[in-house]
Amino acid sequence: MALISGESLERVKGAVDIVEVISAHTDLRRQGSRWVGLCPFHEERTPSFSVDAQEKLYHCFGCGVGGDAIKFVEEKEGLGFAEAVEVLADRYGVELVREREDPRAEARRQQRRRLGDLLDRTAIFYATYLWDSEEAGKAREYLAQRGLGEEALRAFGVGYAPSAWDTVLLRGQRAGFSVEELRAIGLAQRGKSGGEYDRFRSRIMFPIRDRRGRTLGFGGRAMRSDQGAKYVNTAETEFFHKSEMLYGIDLAKAAIAKAGRAIVVEGYTDVLALHQAGIEEAVGVMGTAITEEQVAALSGMVEEVVLALDADAAGQEAMLRAQRVAAGRKMRLRVAAMPAGEDPAEMLAEVGGAERFRALLDGAVELTAFQVGLVLDRTDAGSPAERDRALAEVAPILAGLGESASRDDLVRRVAERLDLEPAMVMGRVVAAQPLSGGPAAAPSGGEPAFAPRRAAELTSRERRERALLAMCIALPDEGGEYLARLGEEHLSPLGSRAAAWLRQHPDDPASDLPREDAELSGLIAELVIVAHEEPASPESMELNFLLLEQRRIEAEIAAAGERDDYERRAALSRERAALVERIAHAERVGD
Ligand SMILES: [Zn+2]
Repeated sequence: MALISGESLERVKGAVDIVEVISAHTDLRRQGSRWVGLCPFHEERTPSFSVDAQEKLYHCFGCGVGGDAIKFVEEKEGLGFAEAVEVLADRYGVELVREREDPRAEARRQQRRRLGDLLDRTAIFYATYLWDSEEAGKAREYLAQRGLGEEALRAFGVGYAPSAWDTVLLRGQRAGFSVEELRAIGLAQRGKSGGEYDRFRSRIMFPIRDRRGRTLGFGGRAMRSDQGAKYVNTAETEFFHKSEMLYGIDLAKAAIAKAGRAIVVEGYTDVLALHQAGIEEAVGVMGTAITEEQVAALSGMVEEVVLALDADAAGQEAMLRAQRVAAGRKMRLRVAAMPAGEDPAEMLAEVGGAERFRALLDGAVELTAFQVGLVLDRTDAGSPAERDRALAEVAPILAGLGESASRDDLVRRVAERLDLEPAMVMGRVVAAQPLSGGPAAAPSGGEPAFAPRRAAELTSRERRERALLAMCIALPDEGGEYLARLGEEHLSPLGSRAAAWLRQHPDDPASDLPREDAELSGLIAELVIVAHEEPASPESMELNFLLLEQRRIEAEIAAAGERDDYERRAALSRERAALVERIAHAERVGD
């Protein structure tokens, strides 16, 4: 895609109201020059999330996240930079100019938009047909029997496809779309005799939307027993890649981000039933196993994914691959085992079903432990042949965990259950090839998730360096001097990067955040907000600098001691004594 021009980027940044953007996710109230509220990125009871409307930056003093409005939309909606800019440009009416636009790329984008509109319009047509047509009466009855109310059905845009062969085909053609276009987005298909007809007929239609609520495909449930497949989905098209889609993500994303957890179920009606029961962090995978792409799509939004599906049927290899992706992105994958033959929608339709489902969620276990448990449950430990088979099955699963406490725990469990020596089981595990790919610790593709440090975990040196760097922004004249005096030996590695950034961007450090370095841009946002809010004075800058200087000298004294360089150590000790006096003096001035 062509690059968004720097000028339009500036216009988007100028047009956004960051307080409004963030208010959609958490309640903010004004406190002096800033806005505060509960952090939408971590659970908390007292507000440590701060928004600076003038600088258009946010920062959480609890979990350390921070950035500008674009960053916020990226994180919260799980979008890439360009997409986040588009969302904001749309919302604030800024027309984006793209540089070096390839005319073919532009034509493709317009075509995509046109076809996307048709998909959205078709979804609306199906939904209207469900509620208004006589033909859909049975479908309405079926959905009501499943305990699904009109409110949830309308929110998810559930619809009904007419039984006629060509309703959607003709509507599309009348609206100016060609048969090829209708085929390209999966609404029409060609029969054996060469004629074209609607792919979906006499089916309850579930529009499958992306995060932004755009319909990309459909799932259709048969209403008659003579209809062949019970479920038919849109075939893979240029728009629709089923393995990447999460059903309901557009309606679940806010709850997912808030809970830090996603609940993954199999079917469309499961998702609806859960949302209806107030468990809104539920999404559907439309298949028996969660895919690597789906795990990747959730990463960044969640710390934990709970699979409430029939994990026995789900391909073990696929699950373990998904788990490897999850582990690489610092996400936990757990399984809430559904009772045999029961799905979440059925459970929730019963009296007390929501409580039962919540209890299952609470009892969810790690995926690997769950799979090992399945093997052990199937094994008759009295038979040597059975024990051999079980060992052969669990060894590659456990090998995939790499060296870890959870692997050791599971090895002990297997040994006990099969009545074997733990060392013998471990020997088999170490010798086994992991079920797929390398050890769990190796992230499979993609960026490792950046986990900001919580403020409470900062060392006193880090707190001091942050205070000083913020004052360097607040008082730029003095700041320039201190930035020149501060060296790597005074600062943490991240602090050094921030100091370097401030030296390079003395006038407006936050106008163009270093997006490729999430940790650094988070810190810069924090420093600018603090600079704006906290009092700064040359005296307190000096005091903070001297305290960092003291740290530096102490580290050097320790190093000299290790080298047995007593002369150097004595000199440094004298330096420290002088410094301590200056600090005492600076503290008196500061008071
Ligand atoms: Zn936070």
